[in-house]
Amino acid sequence: MNILKKILLFFIPIKFILNKYNPIFVYHSLGITSNFNVNIDHVDLKTLEKQLKYIQKYWKFVTIDEFVNVKNKKGLTSLTVDDGYKNVINEALGVFEKLEIPITIFINSSTFKGKVFWRDKVRYLIQHKMIDKFIKSSKLFNENDINNFYYISKNPKFNSKQVEKEIDDFISNENLKVSSSHNFCFDSEKYLINHPLVTYGNHSANHYVLSSLNKEEQYQDILECKNFLGRFDINRSNIFCLPFGGVNTFNEDTISVLNNLNYKTLLLTENKLNNFSIKHKINRIMPKNLAINFFLKKLYLKQIIDNKI
Ligand SMILES: [Zn+2]
Repeated sequence: MNILKKILLFFIPIKFILNKYNPIFVYHSLGITSNFNVNIDHVDLKTLEKQLKYIQKYWKFVTIDEFVNVKNKKGLTSLTVDDGYKNVINEALGVFEKLEIPITIFINSSTFKGKVFWRDKVRYLIQHKMIDKFIKSSKLFNENDINNFYYISKNPKFNSKQVEKEIDDFISNENLKVSSSHNFCFDSEKYLINHPLVTYGNHSANHYVLSSLNKEEQYQDILECKNFLGRFDINRSNIFCLPFGGVNTFNEDTISVLNNLNYKTLLLTENKLNNFSIKHKINRIMPKNLAINFFLKKLYLKQIIDNKI
């Protein structure tokens, strides 16, 4: 960030943000140390505590369901955690208890069965320089997709289930052993704890790009996670958290399926401050390891310039 911009940001009063927006947070891995590869969004506990203490000076943390249901949202914020990393329960919970902050963890139910996350299979093929060979065997992709495979494989025009099936066939034909970064995610019911500060929510069974699936496939993937959560004596959220979280990762079928399953609100992950007045969709921000005050002000400035809302 250049110095002029930094000075400009410094002089934006937090009050301006407070009057119009809620910073709704999304974190992923939260813990003491990170043994993870660079692809995982990890925040250490010291940074987390510092960020949350700063936010508590201006906003009150409530659960995401409370936030959605309350009429006057001014001065409220909420903390969500996606994908169900074990360290959130094993290591970060103490921070939330100390600061008395309620959290909602959005899980993928397939991780409880030890299933390898399909994005890890994609990453494996890239890291092992096997994309060329895979694409030769593929009916979905062609040579033009080789260099851009990580992104093209999550483009909504390719059905994620079919992509995973093709990769699974390839992995089995080639006798490959693929390990899962989701070994770091909940793989046992012991992570579903009954705790006054912890709520669990639906992030779909397999974290597919929903807009790439047909309506029935979307229905099944959302229902499977809903049914799974229904079996436990835990606090449950009535909000659905969209896998990948971008506006291109859901469509009209998603909205219709969610209505059928009684989910009225959708969580997005577009790094935008949530505007009070928008209903049924909640924008979230990913602070990562950034200095939280500058991060908020930067987003604020970007949004008033971009949207004029
Ligand atoms: Zn996710």
